Amino acid sequence: MKKIIESLGIFRNAGLYPDIREISSAPTPAVVIDGKEILMFCSNNYLGLATSEGVKRAVRAGVEKYGLGSGGSRLISGSTDVHRKLEKTIAEFKGCKDAIVFTTGYQANMGTITAVMDAVHKFGRERFNPLCKRDIILSDELNHASIIDACRLSRQKTIIYRHRDVIHLEALLRKYKKRRKIIVTDAVFSMDGDIAPLPDILRRAKKYNSLVMVDEAHSTGVLGVSGRGIKEYFDLDDGVDIVMGTLSKALGGLGGYVAGSRDLIDFLRISARSYIFSTSFPPAIASGVIAAIEEIKSRPELRENLWRNVNMLRSGFQERGFNTLGSETQIVPVFIGEETKAIEAARLLFQGGIFAPCVRWPAVPKNKSRIRFTVMASHTENQIARLLKVLAEIGRSLGIVG
Ligand code: PMP
Repeated sequence: MKKIIESLGIFRNAGLYPDIREISSAPTPAVVIDGKEILMFCSNNYLGLATSEGVKRAVRAGVEKYGLGSGGSRLISGSTDVHRKLEKTIAEFKGCKDAIVFTTGYQANMGTITAVMDAVHKFGRERFNPLCKRDIILSDELNHASIIDACRLSRQKTIIYRHRDVIHLEALLRKYKKRRKIIVTDAVFSMDGDIAPLPDILRRAKKYNSLVMVDEAHSTGVLGVSGRGIKEYFDLDDGVDIVMGTLSKALGGLGGYVAGSRDLIDFLRISARSYIFSTSFPPAIASGVIAAIEEIKSRPELRENLWRNVNMLRSGFQERGFNTLGSETQIVPVFIGEETKAIEAARLLFQGGIFAPCVRWPAVPKNKSRIRFTVMASHTENQIARLLKVLAEIGRSLGIVG
């Protein structure tokens, strides 16, 4: 305990312990915190589907029929017809042969990367020898923490390539051309809001015979004319071996998925430990997410509204002199730099009625702090204009903009 108290003290004394706000309303553009209405600019409920009437109806029907919990893991008693229906719906939506759902997106990455990178050893004759790291994982430097943790747990050699740098990636592919390899990348990067150069990655993967895995947590429902994600955005037919995503962001629910070939999915069901040894999410969630996917397909106006809002917010920040890093999507960071200044900016924003977190070390490198805003289809022009006004005042008072 002494060590724990010591390290907690270091965090607290440096003013780095996060404010965890208690929200007493649904994740809409205006939420209630401490009895006051605050504008929400950090929800992943990008399309508003967490609160759509159709989705709520489906969840209510699911609860009536199945109750609350599933009562077991998928391989024992926690596979319902509605979990399977959701997997088929996802496979169709993502243009893949089959899909598997996990209780969270974090678990989807953990289970998949460890299983796939251990595949040769798992069922082969040789026992795993940690001194003999034969497989290579090539991972973008800004990949999500769940990918980083999965790479560590896989016990294979992980090499980080510079963010979106395909020249660096190619040099690594060449260096390890004789080894079994996988390239893993976020589709939309969760902190900077930029998009992976997928066509360039796929070309190199093919040349050097590497598997490719893409994390579509922030692109599913958002990128591509019908919201099918990064492959649709770049008009690609194939080449991604493992399509991972979450059900917890634009899809408004909870859970993670992997879509791919039938063999990949059959393999994961018997080898992804986070799938095998964890209770499946409630069936009512599956009913709700199926309804959400139907809405994504049938209501293109949700995406039109989202992109209109994204453009208004990002260009508004830039016109006021803020640095939005490489953002191309609904995730719009405003770069601040120094930790203390960024913490103060988030505090002043909250006082000004706006909820958006300061992201700082250790989530990003020291002195690379930022406020991370996310946009929803249901934000109004007035709400975005209000954020622009409040942030401009804060930016001037803290010397972030001139
Ligand atoms: N991948 C990425 C890129 C993410 O941003 C997240 C969640 N923030 C996850 C995976 C994990 O998903 P979940 O929250 O559903 O566990």
